[in-house]
Amino acid sequence: MSRIVYLNGTYLPEAEASVSVFDRGFLMADGVYEVVSVLDGKLIDFEGHMVRLKRSLSELQIANPLSDDEYLEAHRALLEKNGIGDGLVYLQVTRGNPGDRDFAYPAADVTPTVVMFTQSKPGLADNPAAKTGWRVIGVEDLRWGRRDIKTVQLLYPSMAKMEAKARGVDDAWMVEDGRVTEGTSNNAYIVKGGTIVTRELSNDILHGITRAAVLRFAAEAQMKVEERSFTIAEAQEADEAFVTSASAFVMPVVEIDGAKIGSGAPGPVAARLREIYIEESRKLGV
Ligand code: PMP
Repeated sequence: MSRIVYLNGTYLPEAEASVSVFDRGFLMADGVYEVVSVLDGKLIDFEGHMVRLKRSLSELQIANPLSDDEYLEAHRALLEKNGIGDGLVYLQVTRGNPGDRDFAYPAADVTPTVVMFTQSKPGLADNPAAKTGWRVIGVEDLRWGRRDIKTVQLLYPSMAKMEAKARGVDDAWMVEDGRVTEGTSNNAYIVKGGTIVTRELSNDILHGITRAAVLRFAAEAQMKVEERSFTIAEAQEADEAFVTSASAFVMPVVEIDGAKIGSGAPGPVAARLREIYIEESRKLGV
């Protein structure tokens, strides 16, 4: 069965959906995106992703083309049309097609392009990697300075992911001024003496929707949280490490730059947070 995708209000087989060569998303990476996970046909943290989408659009002065209800309706329609139980919905909004290439933003009558598609991931919550954990390397963070905006400008994280693959590990933690910013597509955490440590929010990192939920659940479970940056050396000395994202949920990290974290196996705090996050998300999904 061919995948059905959403393009500017229409549902089409993927092979029939096309966007102009002049679209600014294509020419300038002038667009933003969101990824919402799906468990048992329910959208996880949907509202949080919509809040961040609107903030990203507003920071770039791109008019938001749809209402939250319209985004929700399109997400649900795509799940239904593609028979998705577990998986992801990808949503991208670009500044649209001004009909030519120019650095200046086009006039306001150019309508944004909206694309959505599903990715089927049966058993998404039972990812076997969560039992063994990820191994990561540190790489210099060479991205631009507005990482709080979720743009489609993903070439550097993609290069860092390839560096990790080339070195036989799962992901890279990016480092700026000697301190970890985040993973290539996730927020980074360590646990030391029972305290969860993760970098504070600023323009240096993406404000993860999973991060917000996990920190809320951690506080509710009386776990201690410190929002501050840390070094690779501090992470290597930690009891545990993990990352969070909409697609990986809470994923333990067991090795950094060849050094085992704690026992070298996923730790109890990461395992507990993963369990709580998945359980609560299933209840709160829409
Ligand atoms: N940081 C970066 C750089 C990311 O790309 C992502 C995933 N989009 C995250 C953090 C995690 O964000 P979220 O929990 O909203 O998926």
